[in-house]
Amino acid sequence: MSTTPFEPPRRALAIGAHPDDVEFGAGATLAGWADAGTEIHLLVLTDGSKGTWNPDEDVPALVARRRNEARAAAATLAHATVHFGGFVDGELISDIATQRLVCWTIREVRPDVVLGHDPWKRYRLHPDHRHAGWSTVDGIVAARDPHFFPGLGGVHHRPERLLLFEADEPNLWIDTGATIDRKVEALLCHRSQWRSTMHIDADGDVEAGVARFRHRIIERGDEAFRLIADL
Ligand SMILES: [Zn+2]
Repeated sequence: MSTTPFEPPRRALAIGAHPDDVEFGAGATLAGWADAGTEIHLLVLTDGSKGTWNPDEDVPALVARRRNEARAAAATLAHATVHFGGFVDGELISDIATQRLVCWTIREVRPDVVLGHDPWKRYRLHPDHRHAGWSTVDGIVAARDPHFFPGLGGVHHRPERLLLFEADEPNLWIDTGATIDRKVEALLCHRSQWRSTMHIDADGDVEAGVARFRHRIIERGDEAFRLIADL
């Protein structure tokens, strides 16, 4: 699929359910924009507390660790600012509280472009990814209208474009050649996810595991989105 030129925005807000979702969905694109001068913000909606296969995991310690990993990944990727929603991992609901948080963040950050999970993606299993997608879409609608959430504070703001990653029907492909390595490095900052998400076995041949993961990410070649321009 041929890639599409896309002018880097002045400011972008990327919204993910879990600490590594944005890097998987749009990492190379955000890195490229950051290099062109875009101010990048990430909103991680949940606390990542389900992100382990270890039944004896110290969950509060995992949450703290994942925050640090998210900050390190954001710095590696794009010198991005990370905002944490703090909802419980696995229990995210696209309700008024989540819409309000997304609305508030959009009014604070005032992005030209918002990125998020595609809520219309079919046969998606993880509920947080569905709900994060709906909350992104619903939050944009609330943020642009001054009568949503009176008393919330901030001035209403209408982003220009929405890019949905993991798109069910993509219509925009952004070339990732120049920054795909930064995407890989940012993903590898999520060390707690090596085993479960990236299939890198810390007790096995780590080097080979990292190489396989790197190959899997680079092989894809571009990042696909559903562009919604009429906000
Ligand atoms: Zn996720």
